[in-house]
Amino acid sequence: MEKKLRYSHQREMIYKYLLSTKEHPSAEMIYEDLKKEIEGLSLGTVYRNLKLLESLGSIRRVTSHQGTERYDAICGDHAHFICKQCGMVHDIENLNVNVIRDGVPLDEGFSFLQLDLNITGLCPECSK
Ligand SMILES: [Zn+2]
Ligand SMILES: [Zn+2]
Repeated sequence: MEKKLRYSHQREMIYKYLLSTKEHPSAEMIYEDLKKEIEGLSLGTVYRNLKLLESLGSIRRVTSHQGTERYDAICGDHAHFICKQCGMVHDIENLNVNVIRDGVPLDEGFSFLQLDLNITGLCPECSK
């Protein structure tokens, strides 16, 4: 029982961390930042909690370049700009993705659940 409580506390901390950042961190980045704060935290625990939060619909997974999984606490559909060089994931806030969503000509019988829109390019830092 005590173990269970500890795990949900870790999950809460991981979720709060995701809410507090726009970096779209990977499991490794979350682990590096939270291991000082959460005693006994392991990378495996971070992975497990991220998978669980994702299955609960609390967070979203963004697949960045080279297959790195990044995580996002913003669950509404929105577009991401992904830098091919440094891997940074940036929200494109001013794009109305509903227009794209509504414009997709789905065949009869198919229904929409989620739109994942990733644009790959170079960030200002890597363009220099
Ligand atoms: Zn970059
Ligand atoms: Zn995002």
